[in-house]
Amino acid sequence: MVFDAGDHRDHEQVTFFSDEETGLRAIISIHDTTLGPSLGGTRILDYDTEEDALTDVLRLSRAMTYKSAAADLDLGGGKAVIIGDPDEIKSEDLMRAYARAVDCLDGRYITSVDVNSGVEDMEIISEHTDYAVGTRDGLGDPSPVTAHGVLHGLKACVEHVYGTDTVSDVDVAVQGLGKVGHGLAEKLAERGASVTVTDIDDEKMAAFTDEHDADSVAPDDIYDVDCDVFAPCAFGGAINDETIPRLSCDIVAGAANNILADEQRHAGMLKEEDILYAPDYVINAAGIITVYHEYHGGTKQQAFEDAEDIGDRLLTMIERAEDEGTTVLDAANAYAEERIENKDQTTPARSW
Ligand code: NAD
Repeated sequence: MVFDAGDHRDHEQVTFFSDEETGLRAIISIHDTTLGPSLGGTRILDYDTEEDALTDVLRLSRAMTYKSAAADLDLGGGKAVIIGDPDEIKSEDLMRAYARAVDCLDGRYITSVDVNSGVEDMEIISEHTDYAVGTRDGLGDPSPVTAHGVLHGLKACVEHVYGTDTVSDVDVAVQGLGKVGHGLAEKLAERGASVTVTDIDDEKMAAFTDEHDADSVAPDDIYDVDCDVFAPCAFGGAINDETIPRLSCDIVAGAANNILADEQRHAGMLKEEDILYAPDYVINAAGIITVYHEYHGGTKQQAFEDAEDIGDRLLTMIERAEDEGTTVLDAANAYAEERIENKDQTTPARSW
């Protein structure tokens, strides 16, 4: 009933916390700690049902295991959700109660920011537990490092497809000029790439095209842009049944999480269309790389340097996919799973 129920049969530990005084209802899901303590943000959302919250946290914590493993980090996968409308439930007392919940897991789970939880919340949490990152004296917003990592991943794709180590001759369509997309589009433009941008925020688009030699299109037209690389950096599900037939590119490589609406099926469809897809969780991993360095007292410089390795790692996966006739997503998943399987099992479980 519990252990065999659907989504959580391969999770190590799923813990439910409640606190009557503050109204806290939280679920912390630890998917796997083979490689190290589980790390993942705390999402605060008004889920329709508790089952939705459980499904979300189980899915997200598993995804964190793969993301960290595929980024060569000694981290496991975890995630937490606090159930409720953040505007109604959020209080310092509630965050303190939540911090005690994190703390009682004794380092098996390390938390950070996510949807509706920010630096201020981590400040409160970190007063009551050592297992929180993303505080004010941490390494700050990881977005510039993420953009740097995406650039290196994108360059690896370009190298594989066109045999060149420069982006100066490629046309890139960037969807979303937010914290990551803007940084990526800027780096590409500075390196001589021909860049077409879009955003639902007209001001962001105008500011970008004023400052750089770049074109812009209306948000829905970005899928039709004739380009070499489409870089989705706005929202999940950008690649789906409706958009794939419209794409006129050789590579999809962007920062957004959950780029593929239906992971396996759409990875397969892109492969059939001969479009190289850089798995989102591999190419956008510099965020978790930054958090990893923050937890270990490292510097942003180290995070920037490690972010560059995303390119070589992605090339390994692309080559493996070609050798084995699979999608790059399958090759990335296999890479992550093998890291976990090949971890020296004689190491004491809590060596970290
Ligand atoms: P952001 O909110 O700063 O930027 C998103 C941008 O997309 C905004 O400018 C928004 O106006 C634009 N946008 C929204 N809907 C759009 C649409 N329909 N068409 C065009 N533009 C649209 O977010 P971000 O931090 O830049 O993150 C972007 C994506 O990358 C997200 O999916 C995020 O989960 C993922 N990601 C971010 C990081 C990071 O370090 N920030 C790390 C890993 C993954």
